[in-house]
Amino acid sequence: MKITSNSNIELFDKSINSECPHCGKSTNLILISPPNFKALQRFRPKHTGMAFQCASCAEPIFLKFEISRYTESQVGFFENFTLIERPSIEFEFQYIPESVVNDFKEALNCYSNFSYNAFAAMCRRTVQSTASEIGAKGKSKVQNQLEEMKEMAEIDDETFDILKQIIIDGHDGAHPHLPNLSAERAEILLELIKDVMYQIFVRKGKLKKAVELRSQQIATDK
Ligand SMILES: [Zn+2]
Repeated sequence: MKITSNSNIELFDKSINSECPHCGKSTNLILISPPNFKALQRFRPKHTGMAFQCASCAEPIFLKFEISRYTESQVGFFENFTLIERPSIEFEFQYIPESVVNDFKEALNCYSNFSYNAFAAMCRRTVQSTASEIGAKGKSKVQNQLEEMKEMAEIDDETFDILKQIIIDGHDGAHPHLPNLSAERAEILLELIKDVMYQIFVRKGKLKKAVELRSQQIATDK
């Protein structure tokens, strides 16, 4: 893959495919804004970005490429790229109470934007608003799920302690002293917080709805 000096037209050896962060389809990406050859030659960055368009939904998609070589007439790129925007995380938000859902959505946004420490802080807030929503048992429920997850997923002790500090222990206030979160641990925390929301709100909400539908059915049958 390269850009040449004479035409500034990019030549891709093969088509670029990716999962679209907007429509979720695995699709062909169409290059919309190629980098400027002269500017690359002048500043010689190690990486550069390009804007593509999803062939399915036409939304813009930004990719980052590593540059493999500079020659007088060409700039070469490695084929691997980084998707700058992550697909937004799907969830059955309709079952989560209003007082909790905004914190939870903001936590997921932080995760999608690679802001892992902000994600950790918002997960903590989500657990706190959950506790105020469902009362004192909230925190112990979350703690139980964390412990269950540790056993099921065989999470190491250090990760377990960090997650526990983030969502349960630690100081409160404007600047809780939360440990830094790596990408790997953020992924585990994401699964945990989704599981917590599911177990506490979604499961209950679905059961309730099923029971309601059932009693409506019985009432109409009579
Ligand atoms: Zn799309």
